[in-house]
Amino acid sequence: MSEVQNDIALVVGGSRGIGKAVALRLAKSGCDLWLTYRSNHEQANQTKQEIEALGRKCELLCFDVANREATDAALRSRCEAQAPAIVVFNAGITRDNLLVFMKPEEWTDVIRTDLDGFFNVTSAVLFSMISARRGRIVAVSSVSGQVGQAGQVNYSAAKAGLIGACKALAREVGKRNIFVNVVAPGIIETDMTENLPKDKILPMIPLGRFGQVDDVASVIEFLCRESSMYITGQVIGINGGMVT
Ligand code: NDP
Repeated sequence: MSEVQNDIALVVGGSRGIGKAVALRLAKSGCDLWLTYRSNHEQANQTKQEIEALGRKCELLCFDVANREATDAALRSRCEAQAPAIVVFNAGITRDNLLVFMKPEEWTDVIRTDLDGFFNVTSAVLFSMISARRGRIVAVSSVSGQVGQAGQVNYSAAKAGLIGACKALAREVGKRNIFVNVVAPGIIETDMTENLPKDKILPMIPLGRFGQVDDVASVIEFLCRESSMYITGQVIGINGGMVT
């Protein structure tokens, strides 16, 4: 693994769940963190303290990734001063409903956060990475974006869109030494999945267990920190064999 110290890692949606596990792993590997979140100050401060206890710096950035102006205001000038070496786009929400009952705001809230948010973040950050001629970008999609999920037409569309966006971006910036990859988790035990009917889902998972945040964070850390890498534009499933 790379031993480069003091790299900045921007973890978007890093206060809880998968994003928090990613942030802690990157801190342990020697990165300082720019940690973003939307509204849960308590969780964000808790994660910041855990990162600082590892001897790394952590700056908290509170903004809504669905808001282009707010995202730009939080990130653009900061990146002009110092390019992040790593960007993990992890922020995401669900608003599940069958399409026949889906309200327009359930569609737009998910698309604006999970997909437009990726554009808002990368367009604010990318020029600095291109100038630095190095960088790793990882987006967190979902098994729903790979195969589609009933009751999640909005979320499946956004997460499939992320895959297309990252594949295209990988082609744009590969020659600038910027790697762009996607992870597609299955069911991971976090706040997001606490109300799912787990007894019905478990039989569909060949490994016979739900994923833990570190199952995802370890793969993201590899994609961000492996020094000799020939992987870009790829989607890595982390789903216990649920989808192959
Ligand atoms: P959590 O709900 O536990 O955490 C979500 C994180 O994203 C929080 O830090 C939250 O901030 C932040 N966030 C959410 N919306 C916004 C927004 N509009 N602007 C800025 N930050 C935002 O989610 P998980 O850890 O479960 O999931 C992380 C990612 O993984 C998501 O993209 C999700 O879609 C994806 N995923 C999750 C799976 C799972 O089974 N858990 C499976 C497949 C994919 P705050 O704390 O302030 O709310």
